[in-house]
Parts: sequence; C-alpha cells; structure tokens
Amino acid sequence: MIKHRTYTINNIAEITGGKCIGVDKNAVIKHLAIDSRILGEASQTLFFAIKAQRNGHQFIAHAYQNGIRNFLVSEDVNWQNYPEANYIVVDDTLKALQKLATFHRSQFALDVIGITGSNGKTIVKEWLYQLLNADFQIVRSPKSYNSQIGVPLSVWQIDEKDTLGIFEAGVSAPDEMSKLAQIIAPKIGVLTNIREAHDEGFQSRRQKLAEKLQLFSGATLLIYSPDHLVEDVQLPCAEQFTWSFTQPADLQIKEVDSHTGFSLIKGSFNGETAVARVNFTDAAAIENAVICWATLLVMGYAIEDAAERLAALQRVGMRLQLVNGIEQCSIIDDSYSADISSLSIALDFLNQQNQHPKRTLILSDLQETGKTAEELYQEIASLLQQKKVDRLIGIGNDITAHAELFKIEKSFFSDTEEFLAHVAQLNFSKETILVKGARKFGFERIVKRLAQKIHDTVLEINLNALQANLQYYKSKLVAQVKTMAMVKAFSYGSGTFEIANLLQHHKVDYLAVAYADEGVALRKSGISLPIMVMSPEPSAFDAMFRYQLEPEVYSLELLQQLLRFIPSEDKPFPIHLKLDTGMHRLGFEPHQISELCTLLSNNTRLNVVTVFTHLVASDDPIHDAFTQTQVTSYEQMYQQLVKTLGYQPVRHLLNTSGITRWSAYQFDMVRLGIGLYGFDSALPKNTLQTVAALKTTITQIKTIAAGETVGYGRRGVLINGGEIATVKIGYADGYSRAFGNGVGKMLVDGQLAPTVGAICMDMCMLDVTGLEVKVGDEVIVFDHNHSISDLAKEIGTIPYEILTNVSQRVKRVYYYE
Ligand SMILES: *Cc1c(COP(=O)(O)O)cnc(C)c1O
Repeated sequence: MIKHRTYTINNIAEITGGKCIGVDKNAVIKHLAIDSRILGEASQTLFFAIKAQRNGHQFIAHAYQNGIRNFLVSEDVNWQNYPEANYIVVDDTLKALQKLATFHRSQFALDVIGITGSNGKTIVKEWLYQLLNADFQIVRSPKSYNSQIGVPLSVWQIDEKDTLGIFEAGVSAPDEMSKLAQIIAPKIGVLTNIREAHDEGFQSRRQKLAEKLQLFSGATLLIYSPDHLVEDVQLPCAEQFTWSFTQPADLQIKEVDSHTGFSLIKGSFNGETAVARVNFTDAAAIENAVICWATLLVMGYAIEDAAERLAALQRVGMRLQLVNGIEQCSIIDDSYSADISSLSIALDFLNQQNQHPKRTLILSDLQETGKTAEELYQEIASLLQQKKVDRLIGIGNDITAHAELFKIEKSFFSDTEEFLAHVAQLNFSKETILVKGARKFGFERIVKRLAQKIHDTVLEINLNALQANLQYYKSKLVAQVKTMAMVKAFSYGSGTFEIANLLQHHKVDYLAVAYADEGVALRKSGISLPIMVMSPEPSAFDAMFRYQLEPEVYSLELLQQLLRFIPSEDKPFPIHLKLDTGMHRLGFEPHQISELCTLLSNNTRLNVVTVFTHLVASDDPIHDAFTQTQVTSYEQMYQQLVKTLGYQPVRHLLNTSGITRWSAYQFDMVRLGIGLYGFDSALPKNTLQTVAALKTTITQIKTIAAGETVGYGRRGVLINGGEIATVKIGYADGYSRAFGNGVGKMLVDGQLAPTVGAICMDMCMLDVTGLEVKVGDEVIVFDHNHSISDLAKEIGTIPYEILTNVSQRVKRVYYYE
C-alpha cells in the first residue's frame, strides 16, 4: 500500500494507466495543479493538462516557467523545449485525475460525509466543519471545489492523520455524479435541497434528483428532507434521517422565531422538544442550519450539546474582497479563514495585482493539522517566496516563534491589539496588502483600520463571473484567434486595474481604451499588455509614445499629424488602422484607401499592427445583409492595404454579439466588450454570469397618510397612504431621474418595491408598504435577480448605459471566491 504523499511520478503513471517518460521517474509528487496556480512546492507538483473550457496544454510553458517539471498530458507537446520535464501520456487527462483521486481515496478508511443538492452545499460543508472540528481531524473541500475537477483535487488532500472527510459534489448534467461518488465514497450522505439551479442540463426535476442521489449509492445513511423529494424516486441507503419544515420527520421544525440578528428554531426530535438558536435570520441560512442540526443529531450528539454548537455558528466568508485602502494602498480582505489551501489561493490573487510595486501579507498563526509548526511555517515561507510577497507582518505567538524562516522584510506582533497600536510605525504606502487570519484573531478590525470607509452604496464586481464570461467567449474562438478586451470607460464602469489585472493574468492579447489617459492609468498600475487607444488626440501623442500606447488611426489628417510627431530614428511605431464600412463614426472610407496607401507605401516609420472595422448591427438579424456588405467591403480594403504594405496586419471586426452570431468572421482577433460584463442579447438568458451588483441601504422609514405627497414637486402620491423607505442612491450616483414615479423598482426584502416621487440627487424613496423592513437593511438596485437588462427596459435604454452610468462616487468592491 502506498502511504500518502510518497507517490512518485512513476507510481502515478501506473495508477492512471499512462506512460511515464522523462529524466527522473522517481520524482516525488505531493501536489496537483491544473492551471497557473501552484498550491505547494513547484518541484513536487504534477501539472494535469486538462481540456475544459480552455485547453490546459496551452499552459505548459507557463507552468514550466514557474518551476513545474512534472506533467500529465494527452496531446503532443514539443518536449525539446522543456529539457528537465518528466511527463505521463494518457488518453484523457481528466479521467486520469479522477482515477488518481479514486485510488488515493481507497487508501484510507476514514468516515466521509458527502454533500450535494442545489443550494447550500458549501455553507453546510463549512458549518459542519465548524461544528465538528473539535472532535475530528477534518479534511474538507477547499472553497466550493465540487466539480469533476474540484472533487478529485479535494480528495487528494486526505492524509493519514485525518479522521473525517467532508466533501461537496455538484453536477450540472446527467452522468456526472457516478464518477464523483466513486471518488468521494461517502458513508453519510447529506442532500441539502433540490431547486431550479442548473436546470439546463436536465430534462426534469426527477432526473436531476435521481442524478444527485447517485452520490449516495454506497453510503449507509442519508439525511434529507421529504419536502424536496419527487414521487417514485428510489432512495439509496439502508438508513435514513429526515428533516422538514412542513411535514412529519425525524427532525420536524414547528416554528422559526426571528429577532434582530438571531432566530430561535423550535422543533421536535424523537418526541422531544428541541430548540436551537442561530445568529441568522434569512431563510437560506436557517435551512442550512437545520440540515447541520439533523446531521449532529443523527451522529449522536445530545440535544443540548447540538444546540450549544449551533449557537456558535459563524457566517462563512468565502470571498476575497479587494477595496481601496489608506495611503493609496489596495486591501485584500480575507479575514475569515486561515488554512494553507485558502492562503495559497489568496496569495495567487495577491500575486495577480500589479497596481503597486509592493505586496504585503498580514498573516495570523495558522493551524494545520498533521504538520508540525516547523513544517507548516517552512511551507508558508517558500510559498511567500514563490508568490513574490515583499513583506510579511506576522501576528500571533506561533508565527513569531518561526520568524527566522522568512527571508523577506518582516515584522511580528503577539496579537491584533499590539499590531493596531503600531500601525503608524509600519508606514503602509502604495502597497497591496492581503489580510488573512484565523477567525479568533479578529482581523476584520485590521481591515476596518486599513481600508477606506466603504459608503453604504457599493457596486460589487464578481471577478469569478468576469473570468467565466471570458472563458466562455474564448471557448468559442478558433485556435490562434486572439482576444482584445475592451476596457474603455473604466471597463464599462466596472473598474480599472482591477479588471485589467485579471484580464492580463488570464492572457488576453490586447486591451483597448477610448482615450490615452485611460491607457496611461493602466500603465501606471503595472499593466504590460499591448493597449490600443481608439481616440488618440494629438495632444496625447507624447504620452502615448512614452507609455507605449498604440493609436487607432482613422483619418489622413491624424496619420499626417502622427508622422510629423514620430522621431524618425526610432523603431517603427505600432498603429491600428480603422476602416469605415458603414458605421460612419471614425475610419477610412473606401474612396480614401488609395491615398492612405500612398502615405503608407515605403514608410518605415510605421508598423501597421492591425486593420479593423466595426459592425453596426452584429446583434440584429434584420440587418444581416448589411453586416455581410460590411464584411465584404472590409476584406476588399484590407487586400488593397496588404498589397501596399507587403505584410499582413492582424484582422479583426467582431464585437461581443458578432462573436456569437458571426463566428465565421473571427479572422485573427476579436474585440470583446459587454460580453465580459455579462450581456449578449444574442445568447440565451443565463449563458453568461452576472458580474455587477449595485446595492444600497435604507436610511429612514416613514408612514405616509392617505393624500400626503412625497419628494420634490409633490410628484409622489400614495393614494391610500403607506410606508416609504428613503435609500442612499440618487441621480448623482447614476440612478437616472427617469426611474422616478414608480418607473424604477428595487429589491427590498426579496420583493420589488417601486420608487415614489422624483429621484433626488443623492437619495430616492421607495414604496415599502407591507414589506418587513428596517433602517439599515440592504436594498438591491440591480443584481442577478433584478437585472440591468430589466432596468434598461424600464427606462428605454441599453445595459451599456446603465452600467457605465454608475458614478465614480459609488465605491467598487471586487470579490473573488
Ligand atoms: C466598444 C467597442 C467594441 C466592443 O463592443 P461590445 O458590443 O461591447 O462587445 C468593439 N469594437 C469597438 C471599435 C468598440 O468601440
């Protein structure tokens, strides 16, 4: 039997049925990687080139550069370029990963809880961890690693010291679960619920439920709610334990009594009355708590003991948040968890940030079971080196005791109070600071001190969603077609370097901005991708030259001005030619091409990098014939230019909906804009993910008598009287006056509440009659459920305008899960 963490690459070749080739077949493998993230020592990492939305084989060069020497592949790779590499060749790399995880799991006899369902998997997993962690050595899925790839990576972490595993599994199409069931091999099954999430891949709820239940086919006990069953679905497992809010069950909830900040859940278990108090009031959290409660009871915990544990449950913080900090710092808040795998993910995110030259980590003591403190801090020290952290601030006695392991700028404090007393001496300035600590250190106090105060109206940007949208479009491109990401107008209102960093990290080829100063700002934030400037005003030529920004040239005048400007001795200056094929905004028209050719012929001072045009109605079938003429006209002009230039510049004309509707015209590059931010009218709903959510809060609530009026000009009238809530958003924040008088609606307490009266500059009023609301409650202006597209329809505009109108006064918060 192979003892964990002593696999050699040759062992893994045997387990996965692959062929091992390379210089060192005894190379020890401790860690697995599937993308540019390295979760441990690079030299002991095996890179799986998985073909998912992107083909992992494309990242081999990058992984090699980062020190990885062991690879598992299914395609031909030019191994001459990687002289020190060892590699395993298999038919299917994903299957190989799953085989390896199944094998690894089979080496351990520990009990495993497997969790699946539509919602709540990750919360239930994290809460069971909080509840059981005192009694078991627990290994669990990191974050929400629950996919065909995430599950094997989770199970790979099992170590001989572990006494309980808690893993989640998610499926989005038929036939996926049986593989995950083999890898996880749970003894106890937890089915959270069955809702409409991810319905696309299934024909019916019944089929979906049956698929999910497969996870438990080898389990001995199933915990579920009859409320979520569909008739005549066969239940696996000899033993079952049920919970319900509505019908008789082993744990039947009779009443939920919600107060400010907590709820009392009353139920009956085995004929006895049981009460649990939890620090939550929302329905989802209460359901998740009940699922955990049922699990504790069926595991044999006494009613009182279970209640005591539930009362201590804390909200799970799974997000990294990026916000602006004091002294021009950026703060990454990950102050809710501290273990080495989440540290590694957070450091990766820190490493992506280029906006400041310095990267700092504030880290508390970590507790990692199964490792000595010496081993743990040594591992962290090498991780910090790998991820290029410049400064460490350690808080806690353990990390302080291992100070000498860290060979970078460092300071140590015994606790959070001591750190807070010394903030001034630490001279934070222009650095990106990751704040990461175990819960008991209360690092939220550090974030509060270092971050700029966040106003109550924020635009939340989900970077995972943006990344997923990028992957979606990349997956639609023919190999070798490049991507230019449009980040004009603060990335459509979503951000500047925050978005550009992510796009750079995910290897888009080009960025495009509207004006030179937008490009300069990106350069000053460490963005090194080539950047095209679409409106290159001559007064900014100098700046463009200094910051290596590449102008779009759209007229003969502009070309002449540029030629006068460029110093002749320099290397050829990169430009992009814009052709007007029907937009009639900017660009050379067909009749100007011969004059353009005259100016360009034998000109060695310019390098025409790309030639492009813009479609006027790529999204609209009514204009398809016109679109076709644009393409033809573009191709004719392009050929004429090529004849003069003697080389073939990169060709591009598709914007977002063009990529979706005109895939035959990808040419050499596409220009992706609004699709990144989640909109493409040519795609079915829910194909893309929602990136932005605008949230505000209630400042005051008033009861209005019948006949009274609300707001300026007495425009708001509640005929029968009622309740209004004043919220902190107005037209100066980008919430147009057109939304006034009931045209606009916001989500309050899960319900759509219409505006009352005129929208003011900084505030507006909502009709909340009959809703359960109080001052300080969150109000959603737009998000996944109440979409920007709906808002756009309400006032007769397009999502582009709603998104870019959110004013810069509204703070942006970026999160990454
Ligand atoms: C903004 C812009 C795009 C992107 O358009 P989307 O519809 O947002 O994808 C592409 N090309 C040009 C020239 C643009 O100005």
